[in-house]
Amino acid sequence: MSKVRTRFAPSPTGRMHVGNLRSALYEFLIAKHEDGDFMLRIEDTDQERFVEGAVDIIYRTLEKTGLKHDEGPDKDGGYGPYVQSERMKTGIYMKYAKELVEKGEAYYCFCDKERLSSLKTEVVEGKEIMLYDKHCLHLSKEEVEANLAAGKPFVIRQNIPNEGTTTFHDELYGDITVENAELDDMILIKSDGYPTYNFANVVDDHTMNITHVVRGNEYLSSSPKYQRLYDAFGWESPVYIHLPLITDENHKKLSKRSGHSSFEDLLEQGFLTEAVVNYIALLGWSPEDNREIFTLDELIKEFDYHRISKSPAVFDYTKLKWMNGEYIKAMDFDAFYEMAEPYLKETIKKDLDLKKIAAMVKTRIEVFPDIAEHIDFFEELPEYDISMYTHKKMKTNAETSLEVLKDVLPLLEAQEDFSNDALYATLLKYVEEKGVKNGYVMWPIRTAVSGKQMTPGGATELMEVLGKEESIARIKKGIELLQA
Ligand code: GLU
Repeated sequence: MSKVRTRFAPSPTGRMHVGNLRSALYEFLIAKHEDGDFMLRIEDTDQERFVEGAVDIIYRTLEKTGLKHDEGPDKDGGYGPYVQSERMKTGIYMKYAKELVEKGEAYYCFCDKERLSSLKTEVVEGKEIMLYDKHCLHLSKEEVEANLAAGKPFVIRQNIPNEGTTTFHDELYGDITVENAELDDMILIKSDGYPTYNFANVVDDHTMNITHVVRGNEYLSSSPKYQRLYDAFGWESPVYIHLPLITDENHKKLSKRSGHSSFEDLLEQGFLTEAVVNYIALLGWSPEDNREIFTLDELIKEFDYHRISKSPAVFDYTKLKWMNGEYIKAMDFDAFYEMAEPYLKETIKKDLDLKKIAAMVKTRIEVFPDIAEHIDFFEELPEYDISMYTHKKMKTNAETSLEVLKDVLPLLEAQEDFSNDALYATLLKYVEEKGVKNGYVMWPIRTAVSGKQMTPGGATELMEVLGKEESIARIKKGIELLQA
């Protein structure tokens, strides 16, 4: 068998949609699983949709996610050019389109907008489709030549017979057969001379020796037309793998409106690249066991495209957050700190030991922006209600808490070493003398120094970070509140 060659063929139209990144990932994994080549091709033939800067987004995303391409516009592998607008200049699409015209599989069409808009339309899968009436198929050779010589604008259309059926094979969907009458004579070359995606994908995938085509299943309905092109040229078609739709939690197509439909959205929301890649791998694919956490190298090893599912994949934001939290927990502290620092500094302006605070939150957050809500009390004691001193299990209430705080205040004032360990030893001694449970003492102290029910550390850890002066001030404030 020939070497596996896959391609990522994005159109530079803006942010990197999660669905596109999934195609890139699966293409990369299919190639690497078989020691094959993964190629990047830029599909910029739709000049109207072109967005400035979108090509940079494509490169940056591949670089960041580790989906290293073996060939592409910046890495010649002998199949260039790798940008469709540049390929067009070589005349490749026109050459093959003319070959189809010769074969009677395509024809010139000179119909103007007015005529086209007078044609009947049909609604197919919610979209309004015009079935061209083959008007120009019946032009004589002489008429066509005269029109071309007169410089009349034209397109080249695929000629699909009205009878018979076309069958193509998809790895996941099996054989799909459609009535030819349902297929429109799609445009192959547009009036601006650019090929359509529909034509360019076939010419390029063949001439670039692509063995596996992975794409979203929105292309499934056009695939019979592509198959007819392969057959007309006498080319072997690649293995087709059409991926299931990605939906939001409401089972609607994942779109911008969800707020997390692109890779950039997710990075801005504080997700780690590795977690996003890992999560996206599972949007339509699953391993044999129920394992969920994979590095890219592990995915390369495990990825078997036969295990891709046909059912829509739900983008579960909560699950992604969970996964991100797992990645944060597993992160090396220095790398974590580097990413956490801007978030810490955003909330904490005081001169506190940010590394200690970072260590406390590392195991508690799912995404970096969660940091703020865990640490805001360090900066300033929030207003709190004294009902927070009451805890059934700890057997505390306002009265017991007041007594404890009054007792420990002089101990803390006398305490020279304000480290966590030293503070703990002091308080433990008090606990033992009093003959109570730890929580009976720690709960009110933690409440007084944080004003919160949930904190990223215990009473003594918090006091260590807050320092003696601030801790004592907060204990006094607690006493004041409880006495009022
Ligand atoms: N340019 C197409 C897109 O971005 C590529 C589809 C394909 O992979 O064939 O949707």
